[in-house]
Amino acid sequence: MKPFHYARAGTPEDAARAGAVAGAKFIAGGTNLLDLMKLQVETPEQIVDISRLDLNQVEETEDGGLRIGALVPNADLAAHPLVRQRYEALSRALLAGASGQLRNKASTGGNLLQRTRCYYFYETGDACNKRSPGSGCAARDGFNRIHAVLGASEACIATHPSDMAVAMRMLDATVATQLPDGDRRRLSIGDFYRLPGDTPHIENALRPGELITHIELPAPPPGRQLYRKVRDRASYAFALVSVAAAIAVEEGRIASAKLAFGGLAHMPWRDGAIEEALVGQAPSDALFATASDTLLRDARGYGHNDFKIPLARRVLIATLKELTA
Ligand code: SF4
Repeated sequence: MKPFHYARAGTPEDAARAGAVAGAKFIAGGTNLLDLMKLQVETPEQIVDISRLDLNQVEETEDGGLRIGALVPNADLAAHPLVRQRYEALSRALLAGASGQLRNKASTGGNLLQRTRCYYFYETGDACNKRSPGSGCAARDGFNRIHAVLGASEACIATHPSDMAVAMRMLDATVATQLPDGDRRRLSIGDFYRLPGDTPHIENALRPGELITHIELPAPPPGRQLYRKVRDRASYAFALVSVAAAIAVEEGRIASAKLAFGGLAHMPWRDGAIEEALVGQAPSDALFATASDTLLRDARGYGHNDFKIPLARRVLIATLKELTA
C-alpha cells in the first residue's frame, strides 16, 4: 500500500470540499477500497474519512417512501422493519450480498460505488481500460465467465457487482448528493450509473468531491416483490444473473411490473420494453417467453459467459411464474 494523507470530515460540506482535491477518495466502511489499495489498483493521495458523519438514519418520507442515510450499514438496512415490510426485494438483495461481517461494515452509499470484480481489473500487470485507460481489455479474449452480455463495449465488458443496487434500480431510487460548492442535487439511479462506452473508468455521474448523502425510495410498488440470485455457491459469491422484481396482478392481468437485473451489464439493467410487454396481459408461458426475448434481444456472449444468456432467460421466466402464481 502506498502512503497517503488522512483527514476526517465533520460535515458533508467539509467532506465534499476535501474530496474535491485531486487524488482524494472518501472512505466509509472501506470494504472495497482497502482491498483495492492493498493491490495498488487504487492509489489515493488523500483519504477523507466520512464514517463519523451524521448520515446513518432511515426515515419515512411524507409520500410513503424512505430516506436512507448513506452511512447506514447494509446489515442494518436489510433488518430495518420498514424495509422488511415494504421493500422485501431490497432486504433480500442486501442479505444475498457478501458475508455477515462485510454487511456489518459496508455502507449503503459505498455499496452503490463498489467496483467491478473483473479478474483483470485486480491484476495490475494486465491490460484494463477501466484501471488504466487506453491499455486495452484483457477480458475480451481472456477468461470472461462473469462478464457482461448486455450493454458492453469494445473497451470494457465488466459487470457491476452490487445486489443492493439492482433492487434500488427496480424500486426507482434517487441518489441525493452534496457538492463541494455547497449545492446539493438528486439523480435518479438510472442516470447515476453509466454504460462503459469508450470511458469505462467513469462509472457514474458523480463530479469531483460530490458525496452521496442519502438514497431515497418512493412508496413501494404494488404487488409482490422478489430478489432471485443465481451464483456459483450458496453464499459469499457475486451474481451470475440476478433479478429484482415487483409484480401486481389484478383480475387475472398484470397491472404493474418492475424488473431490474444484475450480473448482465456494467450497471444494474432495466429495460422498460419488458415492463411494457407485460402490463395489461394475462400471465402465460408465451408472455413470459416474449418478455425474456425482449430482455435478451441484443445480448452477446464472449465465450465463457455465453451460458448467461439462456440462464437469464430461465431466471426471468421462473421469477415471473412465481410472482404471478
Ligand atoms: Fe478492465 Fe473492463 Fe476489460 Fe475487465 S472487462 S479487463 S474491467 S476493461
